[in-house]
Amino acid sequence: MAGAVALAAVLAGCSEEPDPVSAPQGSLIDPAAAASVIADLAVELGEPGPAEVARWPDYFETNVEAIGVSDVGIRFLVDDAELSATLAPGQWAGVVDLSWRFADADRAPAQGEVSMIFSGRGDDLRIVGVGGGGRVAPLWLQTPVEVARGKHALAVVAGADAKTRAATYVHQADLGLRAVREVLRPATQGVVIEAPADVAQLERTLGTDPGSYRGIAAVTTPVDGSTAPGAPTHIFLNPAQFGSLAPRGAQVVITHEVTHVATGAATAVAVPLWLTEGFADYVALRGSDVPVTRAAAQIIAQVRKNGAPTTLPSDAEFAARTAKLGASYEAAWMVCTVLADRGGESALLQFHQRVMAGASVGPTLRKVFGISEAELVALWGERLLELAG
Ligand SMILES: [Zn+2]
Repeated sequence: MAGAVALAAVLAGCSEEPDPVSAPQGSLIDPAAAASVIADLAVELGEPGPAEVARWPDYFETNVEAIGVSDVGIRFLVDDAELSATLAPGQWAGVVDLSWRFADADRAPAQGEVSMIFSGRGDDLRIVGVGGGGRVAPLWLQTPVEVARGKHALAVVAGADAKTRAATYVHQADLGLRAVREVLRPATQGVVIEAPADVAQLERTLGTDPGSYRGIAAVTTPVDGSTAPGAPTHIFLNPAQFGSLAPRGAQVVITHEVTHVATGAATAVAVPLWLTEGFADYVALRGSDVPVTRAAAQIIAQVRKNGAPTTLPSDAEFAARTAKLGASYEAAWMVCTVLADRGGESALLQFHQRVMAGASVGPTLRKVFGISEAELVALWGERLLELAG
């Protein structure tokens, strides 16, 4: 009933006079017709081909074929009154349970609740949009995409110059994977980069609040918003931020994100962010000839001003909207660099692997490097002071 109440408010508020005969309050919502359309869609996405009646956007099937989306399961659950109240007159929102897999890249299907926007009733009911309501919204259901394939990478791209950008991204992803493989054996079959048209579409894809990713170039996260180990994890780009990077910086970002994919960082539990972020930058910057004073310029400037830090960077220092985010990443990178210098790269790898597998930092530091956390902080502080001096 909540749906009917919210919808009445929408009709009352709209400028066109509602026709009391053809559109009595709440009559817009037609779950039975929606369930039937969704059932047809499920069949069609399993065997894409020309549909006789267009009851959803054409690009659904084009994208499914181009990407190789398999294992699609879709089921209508319920209407969403809150989201419906924000839509144009004549539209309403429903929630579907969706599972899907990119056949070439994802080892297991993703599964999540997704909002779908409907228009019309009965036999005329159509799907006119996907997304909103704080739920994830797969990019391939939101908009036509261009697809490019690399050796071990797949790029799915929307917006301007999508074809060219897709080709660039798969190249960067292949290079990133090559760099990662020089250091560790990735727990991944392939890398998927998804690039929405703009930051608003990125936030809609991930089901996050507007503004969440404005300042972020890229994020590696499960496509279905779950935190279950094994959930398909892709790299999502914020095209404006990522596009503003010089080629070398863009490659560092991609290699950093590929490291996250390869190590399962997005679903790791209770691993401090200084380690996941510092390790990803360690891999990304490993072959770089950028001098450390430049690669760590922001943290060095901070140390000149405030002295050496007395604790390892906290998780809060990596929150997307935090000021001095750049300095936090550099600080974390320096911790990993200090560890690699202390015990060798293989010791850093071993330490990282053990903590990712659930071991706690303190005892593992002792076991692998023979130092306490306080000693690590002191070594790291000394290095930062040296660089700042
Ligand atoms: Zn990262």
